[in-house]
Amino acid sequence: MTLIIGLTGGIGSGKTTVANHFHDNYHIDIVDADLVAREVVAVGSLGLKAIADKFGAGVLHNDGTLNRVTLRELLFADSSNKQWIDNLLHPMIRQRMQQQLTQVRSPYCLLVIPLMVENNLQSMADRVLVVDVSPTTQIERTLHRDGVSENQVRAILKVQASREQRLAIADDIISNDDESQDLEEKIAHLHRKYLALCD
Ligand code: ATP
Repeated sequence: MTLIIGLTGGIGSGKTTVANHFHDNYHIDIVDADLVAREVVAVGSLGLKAIADKFGAGVLHNDGTLNRVTLRELLFADSSNKQWIDNLLHPMIRQRMQQQLTQVRSPYCLLVIPLMVENNLQSMADRVLVVDVSPTTQIERTLHRDGVSENQVRAILKVQASREQRLAIADDIISNDDESQDLEEKIAHLHRKYLALCD
């Protein structure tokens, strides 16, 4: 079985940027929890069918895709709905990630799980790599990228795990407050380390 490096970090920390470097520079395979989470509710999936059966066709767009805004409102209105969705989708997501991990061809792979701490998924990985930035950097970069308000970003930071909680599960840390050149060197160093661990 391939060495699995779990990659996590808060909103706007640079997870996607880091994962893309590993993939583009070193051809490392990526399993991405966010992509998998979309697949399990794609048109024709069991996940989407179960959601439509429970909440009715109003939770679908006319083209049959999931209406995330309506679903979010339903979850917000009633926390038992949120629990129901989590109970439905989390096992599906875990199972599909496991299945994708069996297809990995690179010497090691990255398992990108933004909410690793929140959903207690660190045991899916052999090691955990945390992309760490200050809250100030998180806010600045997310504002810049998404064009949202500072208050919106702060509200998300508040419901996510804290910087300290993420660092507590880290085996390796990439500090990403600095500029990109520095980041490439850090990734090159970790790549050599992970290859050595695979031997
Ligand atoms: P999210 O969880 O919100 O999807 P993320 O952790 O995947 O975010 P990225 O999208 O990779 O984060 O990065 C957030 C923003 O910060 C992007 O616009 C990205 O280009 C920028 N960024 C990331 N790393 C750096 C860096 N070292 N220097 C400058 N900008 C950076």
